[in-house]
Amino acid sequence: MTSGTVFSIEEFAVHDGPGIRTAVFLKGCPLRCTWCHNPEGQKFGSELMVKKGEQSICGTEYTPEDLVAKLLRNEAIFKMNSGGVTFTGGEPLAQAGFLVRVLELLEGRIHTAIETSGFAPEETFREVLGHLDLVMMDVKLVDQERHRQWTGVSNALILRNLETLIGSGKHFIIRIPLIPGVNDDKANLEATAALLEGAQGLQRVEFLPYHKTAGAKYPMVGREYAPGFDTEVPPRLDVEQFEKRNIKTMIL
Ligand code: SF4
Repeated sequence: MTSGTVFSIEEFAVHDGPGIRTAVFLKGCPLRCTWCHNPEGQKFGSELMVKKGEQSICGTEYTPEDLVAKLLRNEAIFKMNSGGVTFTGGEPLAQAGFLVRVLELLEGRIHTAIETSGFAPEETFREVLGHLDLVMMDVKLVDQERHRQWTGVSNALILRNLETLIGSGKHFIIRIPLIPGVNDDKANLEATAALLEGAQGLQRVEFLPYHKTAGAKYPMVGREYAPGFDTEVPPRLDVEQFEKRNIKTMIL
């Protein structure tokens, strides 16, 4: 049986898709974005966390059946307000076997969404996509070298998966964490907007401006927060590149 590691389950979430949702945070991510505000979601498997002097284990194993039973306790609430479940992380596609089984069990019962970096083998991405109602995918940097520099991985797979997503006809939202001096320049935003121009299933682009509280949890997992950019400078908000291509935008 494929089990999965979850580091948080947040009920009544309102920024992770339509309606009132439960957000399930899957533990483990192959990326290392220097601005990541969930460092406890990066390492695969359980780890020790120290919060206000109290030690706890971050990461709980679930079987798909146990997780689904827990999620379906709110089924009536989801149905009442067109909500559902959103799988986030960490990178949920990094536990694809577990995720697919959970999605199979939820299919036809509640609306399902994913928040993903898009970094996964193409077959994995296609398989998971087939089970979802909505995809929220990050596009952080279009330039491959800069993507590697700031996230630790190439964006080649991500851009291929974005093409698959656009071609799938599935509803999707693109999320751009706006990081000062990293990806908030006109050239990057213009290149991102050009990739999305005319995409049928695109509902909107959501911008998530960097906030310096992003580093708060690093000491809890025994790590130093060293993002490598000036955290005092507010990011540049520039929706023009998108709006001139008739792409709806939203700032979260
Ligand atoms: S992809 Fe998300 S979870 Fe992974 S390191 Fe980047 S910000 Fe953190």
